[in-house]
Parts: sequence; structure tokens; C-alpha cells
Amino acid sequence: MLDYFYRGNRYFMRTFRGGIHPPTFKHLTQNKPIKTASLPSRVIIPLSQHIGTPAEAVVQVGDKVKVGTKIGEAKGKISASVHSSISGEVKEIRNSAVIIESNGRDEKEFLNDVQEINDLSSEEIKEIIAEAGIVGLGGAAFPTAIKLSPPKSVDCFILNAAECEPYLTADHRLMLEKPEEIIKGMKLIMKALGVKKGYIGIEDNKEDAARRLSHFCPLGVEIKILKTKYPQGGERELIETVVHRKVPSGGLPYEVGVVVNNVATVFAVYEAVYLRKPLYERVITFSGDALHQAENLRVRIGTLIKDLLKECKGFKQEPEQVIIGGPMMGLAQESLEVPVIKGTGGVLFLKDARWAKRKSRLKRENPCLHCGRCVEACPVNLNPSLLSLAIEKKKWDVVKQLNIEDCIECGACEYICPAERRLVQMIREGKTSCKSQ
Ligand code: SF4
Ligand code: SF4
Repeated sequence: MLDYFYRGNRYFMRTFRGGIHPPTFKHLTQNKPIKTASLPSRVIIPLSQHIGTPAEAVVQVGDKVKVGTKIGEAKGKISASVHSSISGEVKEIRNSAVIIESNGRDEKEFLNDVQEINDLSSEEIKEIIAEAGIVGLGGAAFPTAIKLSPPKSVDCFILNAAECEPYLTADHRLMLEKPEEIIKGMKLIMKALGVKKGYIGIEDNKEDAARRLSHFCPLGVEIKILKTKYPQGGERELIETVVHRKVPSGGLPYEVGVVVNNVATVFAVYEAVYLRKPLYERVITFSGDALHQAENLRVRIGTLIKDLLKECKGFKQEPEQVIIGGPMMGLAQESLEVPVIKGTGGVLFLKDARWAKRKSRLKRENPCLHCGRCVEACPVNLNPSLLSLAIEKKKWDVVKQLNIEDCIECGACEYICPAERRLVQMIREGKTSCKSQ
């Protein structure tokens, strides 16, 4: 069931306080079906692609591996296993990464032996998810099996289908092309959590996907159409919009009875449980005006970005900026000789985009105009202006009182700031300094 709320004689979409409306540029890829990238001849697979302790290598140079062979074992309480994404030979283990050369045969190690899914217990589902090395694919890369074992019980699950970052459409395409599988993954997660209530929070620029999902929604799962606004996909913002609960300052979603996972993660859970497939590939948006052809690509983890450019027919023009992730929260990248990893949702090649110009121009020393626009834009009710001034003056007590730890580093304040102050960088530095005080 699609959900709007009705007031007066108008339908309204749900949203949160603050936020911004950057141009989305989603038209570049939203109508492009997911294309499978050709097999790489070599992959570099880092053993740390998640929050927590890096996995420990369980292969040695010279070992033969197949697609899905475990090459790194989760270590410690918060960690995730890592698997080979191609078949071939381990050539090197360097800088905590396993380098594998392909034999071109794409032999699989895992068995597609679909067992009786309905008989699986909550614990068995979580074990399969842990064994498959699944982490949050929205960028956070927190191990999913641990997220599904919260320290106190929760009463609902929210599928984060907002995909609010400009340019990115990988989740949108997955929902259009694999709606039944995503709902099956969601049901598995709800069973693992022991909850009967599920929500799908999706922005109104993806109503086609919402309608596809609605055909497969079981009883107890509701679709909430949300206003397209950045950062609607932030966990706190999503929870506030969908179930009207406020995650306390410094708190986590489970404290208000909620667990949130994004679309790609839920799809990976489906594949792990139904196909016994470890997480060795994912869908990534390759976009930006410097590319000849923007695409949504299914890519093996560990493939170098430079090797994927041919799938997009190369550059129209040398990009001024390459960003891994979305333009708001992603990281600028100097080299194309880096691998895509589990948390990579997009790679952007920008020749003249606003972000490229702005990010190179931003200066922390520009004086604040006290216009208040950053305060209006901040989705977590912070005062980025005061925060940045206190950070500049190294008044760490004031910085702490201004709840710097609540900042989700969404970049909305920086995007809107007419003085072009480098607010996010200052806040990041402020957080580090506060910890060492
Ligand atoms: S202060 Fe943090 S949370 Fe608020 S808008 Fe800026 S980056 Fe986003
Ligand atoms: S938006 Fe920029 S100039 Fe305006 S109050 Fe915030 S930091 Fe100052």
C-alpha cells in the first residue's frame, strides 16, 4: 500500500525538518538497466572494507581460489569476512589487500543449493548473513549480522529506499528489476529481528519502484512515500519521517526500536540466503558529465576503477573531479587505480559540476555572514555556524555543548553556505580534537 497523508484538501508527502534540494542528475542513469561489467583480469580486495577489525587473511600467495572462496576471516566482535570475486590465483598480499589474477574461468565455490528457507531460524539467517560477509552497502559498511542482533529488542524494520544522494540510481534500478527478491530479503531480515512490522521509505522521485515493490508487499509491510529532499536517507531523518521517533542525541536507531538497512544490503541478504552467495559483487552507479556513457554496473568487488571505464566508453573530457560515493558525502579521489569495495555505491566523474567547482573553491577562512541558512538546512538541529566559529577558536567545551557528535556529515550546511565556508571539514577536525581533549 502506498502511503501519503491528507490534510485539508491536499495530499502531502512525509519529510523531516531541514534539508536541501540540490539538483539530482539522476536522469543520467535512472532509465539504464543494470549491465554486468566484464570480468576483470585482476582484482585487489582489501581485508578491511567494513567498520571494525579488519578480516584476517586465510589464503597465501600461490593459492588457487574460486568465486566466493573465503580469503579473509572476520576477526573480533565487529568484523566481516571477505571473499574472492574471481577465480584464479593469489599473486600477492600487500597493504592488507589480497591481489588475485583471474584464470578467466569464473568457477564458483558456493553451491546454489536452495534449502527450505521457511524453516530457517532467526539465528540461522544471521549466521548465513555473517558467513556471506554482508555489510551495510549504503556506505556505512557496518557488519549486517551484528546490526541484526541489537542489544535490546526492536519492533520494526525500515527498508531505506530513499537513495537521496544526487546522481546515484543503483538502488532505484535494483528495486525496478528485482522487486520480489528485495521483498524476500526484507522478510528474512524481519524474521531475523523477530519483528512483524516493516516499512519501506522511498522518495517520490522513485514512485515507479514503489509501485513495483507494492505488488510483492506482504501484510505488515507499508510503503511510505517521502518528499525528495537531501539527506532523506540519513537513518535519523528516515526514522523521524517514517515512524515519527527521534533517535536521541548520541544514540542509535535500536534505542527507539528500529533497525534500518538500505536496498542493496537487503538484496545481498536475499542472495546470501536463497542462493548461498557470498558478497563478491554489487551494483554501482558510474555517472557524471565527463563520461561518454553513464551506467549502472554489476561489478566484482576489487575491480579497479580504471578497468571499468571502458564499460562507460571512457571520458568525453578529462574529469575535474572524481568522487567515490555521492557528491554530498563521497570522497574525492586522485587516482583511478583504486578498487571498488563493498561500500562503493557510486563513482562520479565530473567535468563542470557544481560540486567540482565549489569543493575546489571552499575556504575555511571566509568569514561567516551570520545568515542562518546552515541552521535551517541542518537536519539534526545543529548550529553549524556557531560550531565552526567555536572550532576556529578552539573552544572545545563550547564545541561539545553544541553536540558536535550528532553531526552526520551530510554536507547540507556547506552546500547552502553563501560564504562557501568549509564547514564539514572543520566539523570533522573538531570531532577528532574533541576526542583527544
Ligand atoms: S552540521 Fe553536520 S548534520 Fe548539520 S548540515 Fe552540517 S554536515 Fe549536516
Ligand atoms: S550559511 Fe555560512 S555564512 Fe550563513 S550562517 Fe551558516 S556558516 Fe555563516
